[in-house]
Amino acid sequence: MTICSPALDFPVTRDAARMRLTQFVPHAGSAYASGRNADHGPGRHDAVSRLSAALRRRTLSEVEVLRPIIAAHGPAADAFASEVFWRTYFKGWLEARPLVWHGWLAALDRIDARLVEDDTLSARHLAAIRGETGIDCFDHWIGELATTGYLHNWARMQVASIWIFTLGLPWELGARHFLQTLHDADPASNTLSWRWVAGLHTRGKAYLAEAGRITRMTGGRFSPLGLATRPRIPDAPDHPPAAPPREPVAPVFDAPTLLWISPEDCSLETEPALGRLPVRAVAVMDEPGAIDRAATDDALARAAAHFGVPALRVAGPVALSALATDAGCTQVVTGRAAVGPALDRLIAVRGALRRDGLALAEHVRVWDRNAWPHATRGFFALRERIPDLMAAAGLAK
Ligand SMILES: Cc1cc2nc3c(=O)[nH]c(=O)nc-3n(C[C@H](O)[C@H](O)[C@H](O)COP(=O)(O)OP(=O)(O)OC[C@H]3O[C@@H](n4cnc5c(N)ncnc54)[C@H](O)[C@@H]3O)c2cc1C
Repeated sequence: MTICSPALDFPVTRDAARMRLTQFVPHAGSAYASGRNADHGPGRHDAVSRLSAALRRRTLSEVEVLRPIIAAHGPAADAFASEVFWRTYFKGWLEARPLVWHGWLAALDRIDARLVEDDTLSARHLAAIRGETGIDCFDHWIGELATTGYLHNWARMQVASIWIFTLGLPWELGARHFLQTLHDADPASNTLSWRWVAGLHTRGKAYLAEAGRITRMTGGRFSPLGLATRPRIPDAPDHPPAAPPREPVAPVFDAPTLLWISPEDCSLETEPALGRLPVRAVAVMDEPGAIDRAATDDALARAAAHFGVPALRVAGPVALSALATDAGCTQVVTGRAAVGPALDRLIAVRGALRRDGLALAEHVRVWDRNAWPHATRGFFALRERIPDLMAAAGLAK
């Protein structure tokens, strides 16, 4: 089965993602390194992988994506690998500082209250999310995001910068707009990238969009006028200190198990560590988003075929718990939930399972376990460890 996202370009099922990976492998070496920052416009993003929706949900894992690319390009795959590690870095960084996520949510509450009272701010915000600012590139990219659910990384940087420094809008609102619209929406990569552009991640170092560079990098498609010439970095408290990431309950390997597939990990059946679990059923819960639904349905079918057990869909935590009990399971196992809505939901599921005397365990990928301890400071501290981390994952050049 090969279903892609509505734009047919950003795969969310495993078959479609593998096809996209195969197409992309020849372009992932020096061509990626030199061409990855040019935005050629919708339908012409061939210089980048467009695998983010699949990587976000681990429909394909980092190792599965990197293996053929490193085999084809050797050291010339470094630029691509480094981008994949940016994702790992942001995930690990937010796991070490969940307060940054909660601070963002609290700020949104305050800003929403201001939006109700301040008509001017509310009108400027509406113009931004409708792409009606009069800034040609910004309005185009907001439209592209709405139509396709995707934006090129470099375009994301320009949009975020113009949002914050030219339009003078709170970065928190922009981050929410992206999180609600991107097919690859990820609490860590998104929140921390917005903070990075705003000058809050690497303190005092903001990203300023420049008109001339935008014209050059888009092949002359845009000539934005009136862009800010100086970044005004928003006020924000210092980062909280890094704490060790949450250590979830590990699966018990002889306990009858219901495998719950969530958008956090859509290829659990490929994990050798889970192969010896006595899985009696595989289930997904109703997902509010179409992309999450498509990805988890695809993963459900694969996992059920792999373990040779029934595949079931349930409405929510209480039904999941009832299903596990009916199937004679004593534990539910799922992919590790990251800080954000996934963890909130996991907590609700754990409550429902506890009431029925069932345990909830999470599978932590070795990739995360190895990399996250190095993701607590700047990216460059993690970058130094990339050769070791790749070797540990069997990704020798
Ligand atoms: C303001 C802003 C918001 C962002 N929000 C998200 C988000 O919600 N979800 C998300 O997955 N990425 C986010 N990114 C990072 C990046 O833009 C996307 O991962 C990338 O554009 C996805 O396209 P691709 O798969 O073609 O990338 P490629 O260039 O082919 O890169 C391969 C993979 O590496 C990872 N990656 C690449 N660049 C980055 C980066 N700068 N930071 C983190 N990971 C990266 C992605 O998993 C990507 O699929 C954001 C960047 C910015 C500037």
